[in-house]
This record gives sequence, C-alpha cells and structure tokens, in this order.
Amino acid sequence: MTVTLDDLAPTDRSVAARTAAHSDRSGWSPGTPPDAVVRPGSIAEVQAVLRWATAERVTVVPRGAGTGLTGGASATAGQVVLDLSGLDAIESIDPVTRTAVVQPGVIVADLDRAAAAHGLRYAPDPGSVAIASIGGTIATNAGGLRCARHGGTREAVLGLDVVLADGELLRTGTAGPRSVTGYDLTSLFVGSEGTLGIVVRATVRLQPLPVSTATVAALFPDVATAAAAALTIPAADTLELLDGATLAAVDPVLATDGAAFLLIQLEGPSALAEAAALADRIRPTAVRVDITDDPARSERLIATRRGALPAVQRLGRVLIEDVSVPRTALAETLAGIAAISDSTGVPVFTFAHAGAGVIHPLVLTDDGAVTPRVQETVDAIVALALRLGGTLSGEHGIGVLKRRWLADELDPVARTTLHRIKDALDPAGVLNPGKAI
Ligand SMILES: Cc1cc2nc3c(=O)[nH]c(=O)nc-3n(C[C@H](O)[C@H](O)[C@H](O)COP(=O)(O)OP(=O)(O)OC[C@H]3O[C@@H](n4cnc5c(N)ncnc54)[C@H](O)[C@@H]3O)c2cc1C
Repeated sequence: MTVTLDDLAPTDRSVAARTAAHSDRSGWSPGTPPDAVVRPGSIAEVQAVLRWATAERVTVVPRGAGTGLTGGASATAGQVVLDLSGLDAIESIDPVTRTAVVQPGVIVADLDRAAAAHGLRYAPDPGSVAIASIGGTIATNAGGLRCARHGGTREAVLGLDVVLADGELLRTGTAGPRSVTGYDLTSLFVGSEGTLGIVVRATVRLQPLPVSTATVAALFPDVATAAAAALTIPAADTLELLDGATLAAVDPVLATDGAAFLLIQLEGPSALAEAAALADRIRPTAVRVDITDDPARSERLIATRRGALPAVQRLGRVLIEDVSVPRTALAETLAGIAAISDSTGVPVFTFAHAGAGVIHPLVLTDDGAVTPRVQETVDAIVALALRLGGTLSGEHGIGVLKRRWLADELDPVARTTLHRIKDALDPAGVLNPGKAI
C-alpha cells in the first residue's frame, strides 16, 4: 500500500492554507503556493513526514509563525510546508536550574510570561517577540533589544531535539550550563534556517527578572551625534537608535523635538542612579533627555521602538536590510547610509540595535518594485557594511533574499564547508533547499 502525506499527519491542501503559508513578513513571494501544509501534533509525526519526504524526494519547508524577513519560510509548488505551530507546549520550567523545556511552536512572549511567574525571564526579545515562535527564533538565531548585554538566541539555547532529514531524532547539548563533549551541535543548528533539521524541542536558559529597570530616552539634533553618544555607553542592557525619518514615522510628536532618538535601559538595584549618571554624560550633545523607572512609561518607550518597523511599512513597501558592523563603525555606517540615500535619491529609514552594532536600513521600493536605483541603494549599503568589517545579516538570517551577497562575505572555502555540512546531514536535499547558504 502506498503511504501518502495525509496518512502521516494532519494535512491541509486548501487554497487558503497553501496561500497563507507561501510567504513570510518580508512580503516576498516565490510565486505559486506549495502543494500542502502539514501540521504535526507530535514529534513522531514530524519524524514520519521527514522519513517520507526523504524517501519520496519531496522538499519540506519548516514554518514557525511566518514572521521572518528574508523569505526563509517561503514555499512554492512541489513543496510541502511543515507548520510547527501546533507543537506549542511549555513542557517545564525549573526555577532552580533556571531552564525551560519548550516545543518549537511556543510564542516567545508566552515563554517570557510563563517564566515571569517564577521570577525569571527569557532574554531573547526580537521586535516580533509577541508573534514569533521559539523554533523560528532558534532557526534564525534571532536577536533583539536585549542583545546589547545578553547576546542573541544562541546564547540562550542549552540543548535541542532535532528531527534530521532521514527522520532520526538527534539530541544535542545538556540541561547543565556547560558541555564540551564532541562538536557543538547545538550551535550548528541555531541559525541553520531549517536547512539541517527540524527543531522539535529546546532546553533554554532563563534569567532572574531584574529588581529594577531605568529607561533613558534621549533626542539628538542628528543621527551622527546620537551614534557618537551611543559609543560612550558601553554596558547598557538595551541600547536602541532611531534615525529622524524612522522617528517621524513611529512618533511624529517626539520627532518635532529632535532628529534622532536613543532608547537606553539599565537593569539592577542601582539602575536609576546609573541612568542619572549616564544622562549627565550624554546631555551636553542631546536636545532632550528623560529618565524614568516607571514600568508603564518604560513600556510605552519600548513600544515606540518595537513599532518602528510596522510604522515604516505603513508608508510603503520596503526592503528590510540587516547589516551589522563593529560598534566603533556605527557612526561611519549611518553616515554612509545617509550619503548613499542622498546619491541614489531612494529614501532609507534606519534604526539599530546600537549596543550590538546591528543596523536595519529600510529601503523604500517604488510601490513594491525593486527598481535599479533601489537595488543600487541596497547593494551599496551591504558593500559599505562589509568594507567596514561587518556582515550582511546581523540577525534576520539569509533566507532567499540575501543569498545574492553571500559570495561577497564568505570566501570559497567557507562556502564549500557550509555545503559539505548540508550534504552530510541532508544528502537528498529535502530540507528547505535554496535557503541560507
Ligand atoms: C515586526 C517585526 C519585528 C522583528 N524584529 C526582529 C528583531 O528585532 N530581531 C530579529 O532577529 N528578528 C526580527 N524579526 C524577524 C522574525 O521575527 C524573526 O526572524 C523570527 O525569528 C522568525 O520566527 P518565526 O517563528 O516567525 O519563523 P518563520 O518566519 O516561520 O521561519 C523562519 C526560518 O526558520 C525556519 N524554521 C521555523 N521553525 C523552525 C523549526 N522548528 N525548525 C527548523 N527550522 C524552522 C524556517 O524554515 C525559516 O527558514 C522581526 C519581524 C517582524 C515582523
């Protein structure tokens, strides 16, 4: 008897389901939707689907919440989408070891909320924290606002259960804080964008909630002055920068007072005193500096920052770039981006996780069309970041949309090594082909 996908896990072939699963938040469309969306309810079902896919040579596109910005979860005709949103249990939270065991479909903010009930939190907090899944953030090694001090998702993942292309279940890492047994397979899968295996369970690190948090909101006359001020702040827990155009899009009232915005958070028992000292340091070059330790006011300021991308997207279709540079090159990169925009005439809205050197230039398209001038703008921004010692993706991953620049950053030896790893783990090439490498 021939086994079909429908025998292995709940499968939806409706036009609505296939259309909804064919793209992500990048807005990029690969054309015709995929053949089916399969929604496993257990790890065993994921294994069965992968065994079938490898045997039948059907390519599989894993999907978390579809909030990615590089087309990584996009799928087209001939492909099957493996929707992991149904594996959404927080299996355990251990306040003693400060760890949680979670399934991939858990929304990041839900884990954070559940941890808070134990006086803990989950540090990785991308701007999409309320809508992105744990599996997707692991697969993209997502960053976020707290990256300045706590690093990205990789720093928070202790171990993974991964279903390999042949259906085998691989367990990596340990529940303990350190392990140097064998190669670091956990790190290999973090950021692999669904091309090496399916994350079906993760053991993650939690942290104590800070006893107090102080927020500093500072307006500057221009982005260069804001970037210079950011460099004088070495140890913030959050350090975010918005240029004037982005600030005007997200909060026109704030934008009337200044042309660039820094949002800084400090945590710990002496947060407010440290914030006051920091404010004194940056005040001479700022237009306005406000300090608060009121949680509601802090939350509103953080919401201003989190609203940056959706606010700009309301102005028109943008290409969302994601370069990263050493922090010392932040001011030069921002100046260079402004100069590129001036010379091509293409508007660019820029905001940055300034503490981590991750910069998001949003390049306005011509009503969705990537004209030669838009392309020239994006190419020049990527070239600038690489010239200044940076990378073409600080946190969103490569997906489909950033593959064209891979050879500009990685030499042939590095690229060949990536393909050897892929071939070793997925010899039939069924896992998310054409993405990431
Ligand atoms: C408003 C907004 C703000 C954002 N802010 C940030 C930010 O600050 N920092 C940041 O880093 N990103 C940000 N993003 C991008 C996005 O949210 C992240 O990339 C996130 O990690 C994607 O999670 P997801 O669950 O939506 O994954 P998806 O988009 O569904 O998938 C992303 C990739 O992971 C793979 N994948 C998904 N689940 C699994 C799994 N279980 N196993 C294996 N592979 C899997 C997919 O195949 C795809 O390649 C933002 C997006 C939006 C819309």
